[in-house]
Amino acid sequence: MTQRITVLGATGSIGDSTLSILETAQASSTEFEVYALSGHRQLDKLLDLCQKFAPKRVAVPTEAVATFAQRLKAANLSVDVVGGESGLIELAEDPQVDTVVAAIVGAAGLPSTLAAAKAGKRILLANKEALVMAGHLMMQAVRDNHATLLPIDSEHNAIFQCLPEPIQQDNTKIHQSEYGVRKLWLTASGGPFLHKTYADMAAANIAEAVKHPNWSMGQKISIDSATMMNKGLELIEAAHLFDLPEAKIEVVIHPQSIIHSLVEYSDGSLLAQLGSPDMKTPIAHALAYPKRIDSGVVPLDLFALADLEFIRPDLNKFACLRLARDAMQSGMVATIGLNAANEVAVKAFIDEQVKLTDIALINEQTLDTMAQQALQAPSHIDEVIAIDQRARSIAKQIVAKRYC
Ligand code: NDP
Ligand code: MG
Repeated sequence: MTQRITVLGATGSIGDSTLSILETAQASSTEFEVYALSGHRQLDKLLDLCQKFAPKRVAVPTEAVATFAQRLKAANLSVDVVGGESGLIELAEDPQVDTVVAAIVGAAGLPSTLAAAKAGKRILLANKEALVMAGHLMMQAVRDNHATLLPIDSEHNAIFQCLPEPIQQDNTKIHQSEYGVRKLWLTASGGPFLHKTYADMAAANIAEAVKHPNWSMGQKISIDSATMMNKGLELIEAAHLFDLPEAKIEVVIHPQSIIHSLVEYSDGSLLAQLGSPDMKTPIAHALAYPKRIDSGVVPLDLFALADLEFIRPDLNKFACLRLARDAMQSGMVATIGLNAANEVAVKAFIDEQVKLTDIALINEQTLDTMAQQALQAPSHIDEVIAIDQRARSIAKQIVAKRYC
C-alpha cells in the first residue's frame, strides 16, 4: 500500500534529506507518495519542490497564501494552498495522510505535531522542541489516539533501533525495566568548541558557532550543538519518548559521531547503532520501518575508522546541559521555559546582541525568574503556549537589560 506523506518543514535541512530519500524511492516503487509540503520563508524553494513532487496540498504563512497560489497557477500546478498555523494543523490531520514528518524548527512546530498525534498519524519526529515543551501531552495524545511516534533525531533513532521489538512496537505502554533496560547513553559530538576554551567560545562569531565538525544541519540546531543545549533538549526528548527518568539517561561525548547512541542492559550488554553521520540513515529507517530502504548514505568503512573516543562533558563549559537536567527534574514549566529562553537567546546571538556563552546565562536567569512565579504545570496546549510566551518575554527583558 502507498504511504501518503506530509513533510512539515520541507524547505529545511531535514526536509531536504527526507525528500531526497523519497525522490529515489519514488523512482523505483509506488510505496511512498508526497502528499503535502510546508515552507515558511523559502518560498522559491517550496515552489521548486511543488514542481518536482506535485503535492496535493501546501502550507505557507497566511500573508503568502494568495501570491503563492497565483505562482502555482502560473506554473500550471494544481495544489491546494493553506495558510499559517491553522493550515499546518489542517495538513497534519488531513484524513488522506498516513505519515507526518514533523521537521519544523522550534516551538512553531508544536501545534501541528500535536495535531498529528491527535489524528492518530504515523509521526516521524524531528521537531524535538514539541516533546521538550509538551512531552506529557504529546505522549498522552499518541497513546489515546493510537498514533505511532518514530524518532528521526539520530540519537533517539539509534536508541529505538537498539530496544527490544516489543518496546519498539509500543514504547508508551511497556515498562522498560521488564526488558532489563538499565540506562540509555546519548552520544554527543561536543560541537566545534569541544577542544577550545571558554574564552574561545565567548569570542566566537556565528560562522564559527555553526561550523559543526560532523553534521550538516539548520542554523538553530547547529548553534544549540555549539552550546550543547541540543544534547540537553535531547535528554528531555529521550526521557519522554522512552518513558525513563533523566537520571537513567547518560550523556557521553563521542567526537567522531560514529556511534549514534547506546542502550545498556542489566546483563551487561551495551547495544549501539553505528553509521556515517548523515541524517538520511535515521530518516530512511523511520520512513520504511519495520522494513529497510536505500538511504543513499555511504556505508561506514570499519577499516578506515581511527580511535573512537568517549569523554565526560564539562558542565561548567556547557552549562546548558546542566540546565536541561535540572529543568527535567523541575517539570514541564521549566522545560517549556528553557526551550523558550533558548530560542530567544539563540536569536539574540544571531542578531549579534549577545555572546555565545551568554546563551546559558540568559537561559538560567529566565528559569530563576520563572521559578519565583510558581506557575502550575499545563494540562492543555494553550497553557503550554502561555508559559512559552511568558518565558520569551522574561528572556527578552534579560537580553534588553543586560546586553543591549
Ligand atoms: P531548518 O532551519 O533547516 O528548517 C526548519 C524548517 O522549518 C524550514 O522548512 C522552515 O521554513 C520551517 N520553519 C521555520 N520557522 C517556521 C515557522 N515559524 N512556521 C512554520 N515553519 C517554519 O531546521 P532543521 O531541518 O535543521 O531542523 C528541523 C527540526 O529537526 C528541528 O527541531 C531540529 O532540532 C530537528 N533536527 C534536525 C537535525 C538536522 O540534522 N538538521 C537533526 C535532528 C533533529 P523556511 O526554511 O521556508 O523558512
Ligand atoms: Mg540529534
